[in-house]
Amino acid sequence: MAPAGPIPNSLIRAMLLGVVLVSSATAAEPPWLELHSTHFTVITDAGEKKGREVALRFEQMRAVFGSLLAKDRLHLPVPLTILALKNDKAFYQMAPLRQGQPISVPGFFVPGDDQNFIVLNLFEEESWRAVAHDFAHMLLNYNYPLAQGWFDEGLAEYFGSIRVDNKQVEIGGDPELGASFSEDLLQNQRELRTSKSLTEFLGGQVWLSMADLFTMQHDTSTYREGTHHTLFYAQSWMVMHYVLNQKKLCLRPELTSIWCRTSTFPWSRPSRRPME
Ligand SMILES: [Zn+2]
Repeated sequence: MAPAGPIPNSLIRAMLLGVVLVSSATAAEPPWLELHSTHFTVITDAGEKKGREVALRFEQMRAVFGSLLAKDRLHLPVPLTILALKNDKAFYQMAPLRQGQPISVPGFFVPGDDQNFIVLNLFEEESWRAVAHDFAHMLLNYNYPLAQGWFDEGLAEYFGSIRVDNKQVEIGGDPELGASFSEDLLQNQRELRTSKSLTEFLGGQVWLSMADLFTMQHDTSTYREGTHHTLFYAQSWMVMHYVLNQKKLCLRPELTSIWCRTSTFPWSRPSRRPME
């Protein structure tokens, strides 16, 4: 996950226009395509096949998130456009810096007033996984009442473990597990990420008390998050993993579980956005 601060839509459009104009000026460059799936728009220079794959992966992730919330319909009042770039050069021209350095992940999320954007580097495999955490936050914001920090981050981290392909969906693993690799043009493998998994991280720390975890303030409204390698993220993920996998949490009142019998969730507060 590579969060980015809000960028005015006008700037994004200018950036997009600039890329398109540069590309159009070079006859050898592939054309830019705009593709539409049921819920998303993909703009890409990587060809129709890649563009459609990106759209499919986001539709799949959206469907999985809906099933996590036990919702047949998810609301997306602000359109999401995915800019899928075929190579590093174009991606890093647009990517934000972190402490003066280029980001090390192949995707970032850009919230906007009337449109949200995701930018992907398709040179890296499964680049959509880099934005799964922020994608979860976006869908949560539009479809679930405001909750305490551990709940939002626990669910976003849980969702961040998602892997989707044409045959199956996997979710529930360690979202920060191990190093991931990519191949460069010479087919040399290079490591993208070397940080510890959350499981490893938890193994070497004195944990926060549950009372502290459940009451910790955490504002994600700006999508400006730093590292996920903190006790807060790791323990939030662990608790959410437990309640989802042990079916301690249900989101449909007709289902039965320990927490479903309460009239409201103990952590819920008034809705963050008007809900249909
Ligand atoms: Zn988050």
